[in-house]
Amino acid sequence: AKAAGGNRYETADADSDARAIARHSLTNRLPAAFDNGEFFIEYQPLVRLDDGTVRGAEALVRWLHPVHGVLGPDQFIPLAESTGLIVPLGRWVLEQAARQARAWGGTGDGRAPLRVNVNLSPSQLRCPTLVADTVAVLDDAGLDPSALCLEVTENALIGADEEELHTLRRLADLGVDIALDDFGTGYSNLSYLRRLPVSTLKLDRSFTRGMQQAPADPVDVKIVEGIVSLAHTLDLSVTVEGVETGTQAEHLRSLGCDTAQGWYYARPGPPERLHTLSLADVAS
Ligand code: C2E
Ligand code: CA
Ligand code: CA
Ligand code: CA
Repeated sequence: AKAAGGNRYETADADSDARAIARHSLTNRLPAAFDNGEFFIEYQPLVRLDDGTVRGAEALVRWLHPVHGVLGPDQFIPLAESTGLIVPLGRWVLEQAARQARAWGGTGDGRAPLRVNVNLSPSQLRCPTLVADTVAVLDDAGLDPSALCLEVTENALIGADEEELHTLRRLADLGVDIALDDFGTGYSNLSYLRRLPVSTLKLDRSFTRGMQQAPADPVDVKIVEGIVSLAHTLDLSVTVEGVETGTQAEHLRSLGCDTAQGWYYARPGPPERLHTLSLADVAS
């Protein structure tokens, strides 16, 4: 038994060594991957719960690695964050997403144009040229600031200093929407919501998981009810993530959530698909 235990340890060590080496080689390849154009963006629709129409989409970056195939952001964003590559990569995502949103345009019947949501990492928020870069990107794309929503995680904001909060306020003053991403995971003091130029709370998936099937988890229902009521009191809209079933969508709608995102509506996919989705909505 002792020998087997020893072996298990050796295996665990070998595994973590292998993971460390893999991480190291991915990290080293990031700059070349960026120069070679190996990153691409998928878009996942955001749907209005009251009438089921598409209001826009979130831009989610992927890496088409020549050996490992498509890697998700959880596998490389932390690496890009630790090396600083996240700043040019994030700017590239913003540029692509802004052009894409401009290309989607309106739906031709007087509806508001489709909006695009872009994730902003903590390093980007600390970058002194973020506001100027954003203005330039919107200008180049010919996109109205109100068609852009920047998503900042609750955890990034808990650690934000006055300067970073000032940056967010300037972005909000431009007319860009700011969403608080992964809301509810950060153990934050709720009174800080009043000080932030945030217009949307994106409720983390962990709070809506208990509503996938009926009967819903009664504690989750109470929590969502409480958050929606707080958010609406503060004039914030509520977006729910990870909606995977119709039961869940209907329940979240009845609880007053405004917007939803999840596999029930669509997985992240190519940008063209969003346009057919929204045209189909308009037609029906
Ligand atoms: P996030 O911002 O919370 O994005 C939502 C994640 O949930 C996405 O994972 C999405 O594919 C996944 N998802 C959507 N609907 C469902 C569902 O119904 N069920 C389940 N189980 N999952 C769902 P993804 O694409 O792997 O992205 C992971 C995270 O990587 C994102 O989490 C975001 O924090 C980060 N990320 C993605 N793109 C960027 C980027 O351009 N810049 C930065 N800084 N971070 C990014
Ligand atoms: Ca997000
Ligand atoms: Ca999120
Ligand atoms: Ca999340």
